[in-house]
Amino acid sequence: MDKRYIATPIRTKEILDKYHFTFKKSLGQNFLIDVNVLKNIIGHAGIDKTTGTIEIGPGIGALTEQLAIHSDQVVAFEIDQRLLPILQDTLSDFENINVIHEDILKADVQQVIEANFKENQPIHIVANLPYYITTPILMKLLRERLPVDSITVMIQKEVADRMAAKPNTKSYGSLTIAVQYYTEAKVVMNVPKTVFMPQPNVDSSILRLVSRSEPPVQVEDEDYFFTLVQACFAQRRKTLRNNLSSHFKDVINKDTINHVLESIGIDGTRRGESLDMQEFSILANAFYKLQHQ
Ligand code: SAM
Repeated sequence: MDKRYIATPIRTKEILDKYHFTFKKSLGQNFLIDVNVLKNIIGHAGIDKTTGTIEIGPGIGALTEQLAIHSDQVVAFEIDQRLLPILQDTLSDFENINVIHEDILKADVQQVIEANFKENQPIHIVANLPYYITTPILMKLLRERLPVDSITVMIQKEVADRMAAKPNTKSYGSLTIAVQYYTEAKVVMNVPKTVFMPQPNVDSSILRLVSRSEPPVQVEDEDYFFTLVQACFAQRRKTLRNNLSSHFKDVINKDTINHVLESIGIDGTRRGESLDMQEFSILANAFYKLQHQ
């Protein structure tokens, strides 16, 4: 990678000036201007010339260009109409890029995959995500159970830490369980603000999510499981028993809650943050059975 690539301060400024482009903060527009960080993202993304890649928010094409060089076919979703003519110009050397003008939250990604990639082609999602909707985007992609092997994204450090957290840490919570139910999550690198133009207010990390072929635990009902996990973290300082009492208020009384906890060998005086995924699944399945027998 060298100076001619888009992800340099000089080249980025040239492109922005040429098109009189002004950043929209409301769209989370912080463009990458550091080739080394790009190299790191590409290096961790698991892509090669046989793989298809999906990018969310190509901006002026800094990452898109690298994905086109290092993979077989790239599909990029961009919401900002003003960037389309710019991308047509900056990516004109490539024939393996399809830019789709669409809000990723509304897109039918499954259909796009079928239309753009070969049957059984390995697919990876790689992006420097717009920070204002990091979690909704990732949860949409995971819940839809797309045929995607991995997701490698630049996101706020705090959110990356929550997604990759371990029990008994400050970052561990319902988002951790939601993400790790579908994937194995790992923070691969922390990134300073200086690699973006303009610089965001928060620190960033590269997060890598590798899809699981099977969930790590068996739950009776996924929605019920996720709702119960959320309830256990509703008030972090409260005990499990108290959070469950608030959650089941008029539906299951305290004695019954204690009885269920005892029967599955989970101490009600523990806090939600001390339970691992396995314990949450046992807890959720026990209450689910109680309510659906
Ligand atoms: N990939 C470029 C880079 O690394 O320099 C730009 C990344 S910038 C952090 C986020 C990009 O996502 C912007 O281009 C923005 O317009 C786009 N974007 C914001 N919301 C979006 C949405 N809902 N759907 C698709 N793209 C979106």
